Amino acid sequence: MIPYGRQKIDNEDIQAVCEVLRSDWLTQGPTVVDFENAVSEYCGARYAVAVANGTAALHLAALAAGFSSDDEVITSPITFVASANCIAYTGARPVFADINSQTYCIDPEEIQSKLTPATRGLIPVHFSGRPCDMQAIADLALEHNLVVIEDAAHAIGASYEINGKSYKVGCCAHSEMTIFSFHPVKHITTGEGGMITTNSEDLYKKLLLLRSHGITKDPVKMIRNDGPWYYEQQNLGFNYRITDFQCALGLSQLRKIDTFVDRRREIVAAYNERFSNNIKLLIPFEHISTVSSWHLYLLQFKNLDRLEVFNALREKGLGVNVHYIPVNLQPYYVDHFGYGAGDFPKAEEYYSRVITLPLFPAMTDEDVDYVISAVLDTVRGMTR
Ligand SMILES: *Cc1c(COP(=O)(O)O)cnc(C)c1O
Repeated sequence: MIPYGRQKIDNEDIQAVCEVLRSDWLTQGPTVVDFENAVSEYCGARYAVAVANGTAALHLAALAAGFSSDDEVITSPITFVASANCIAYTGARPVFADINSQTYCIDPEEIQSKLTPATRGLIPVHFSGRPCDMQAIADLALEHNLVVIEDAAHAIGASYEINGKSYKVGCCAHSEMTIFSFHPVKHITTGEGGMITTNSEDLYKKLLLLRSHGITKDPVKMIRNDGPWYYEQQNLGFNYRITDFQCALGLSQLRKIDTFVDRRREIVAAYNERFSNNIKLLIPFEHISTVSSWHLYLLQFKNLDRLEVFNALREKGLGVNVHYIPVNLQPYYVDHFGYGAGDFPKAEEYYSRVITLPLFPAMTDEDVDYVISAVLDTVRGMTR
């Protein structure tokens, strides 16, 4: 079975982890800071805070943004549930805005139609690695005083261009914060892990406190000081720390990010070339002003029975998947927030036709050819 995604770990990665295991620090030591510095430098952001996973990154970003009950925060229905759950964690209402049928990313015009006086923030998702329209999103945020958190779990290594200037996803030029995930199916992995980047010193300090129980040991920040043993809990935080050996893996993986992304782009180009002139297939779109880092290869099957295609591909040994079931159709969202079928027609149409094909840097050229033949063989002669 060729999975839809998987990590690529080499001897360098293994050695990096072993070195930390032999050191004095297993958690919250120097390698966490090294990894944070490497990611902030790679993205071009001032600060980075490493945490236990991407969901924790979203949770802390939503809290640092100040979202709370009575607020509304807008995200895409086509994303992993965590992008919307982080809004609900704060007591705010998750609001969805439909996708653009060409990019599958949240559509700024749809965002506009969902704005109310209660709207406090936007969580655009750079779905499958393709950057959202950040100029339009930043303009809306400025006009309506909204906090923008980019969910870049799919998009480390991606970039976009505005007026001839290139921006790396995570630089936070058009947002307050950006989050990443280092789950094994994502571009680089720490096993479980996440990161928040920001250019705001204020948000950075809030995130550091929230990551570790809301506790500070810095005498300068304390309200009282009973003695050298003293620490102070100043707000309600969590244990969302990541370990040093995970960050050692992350650092080692980050050194390979550009080759990983290049290989992903090469595979996508091979798929696109073979699928683009088949009228039953709709290949993913890449805008000329964006460079996608291609976390997922999303192929739409037009006028075909998606379940039949899916089962046939699984039978041929492809670990295909579907990304994503619209979040508003999940029972939790139906029961708690009153969403349901028909709310977001473009998201639903996309969902009814899409299948995620295998895409990961360790795929061989033979794997790629096999996937292409399996898809073309499956749809040949198949009609609804
Ligand atoms: C993976 C993912 C997350 C959550 O990351 P974890 O590290 O699995 O917690 C959030 N948003 C999106 C879009 C993701 O794909």
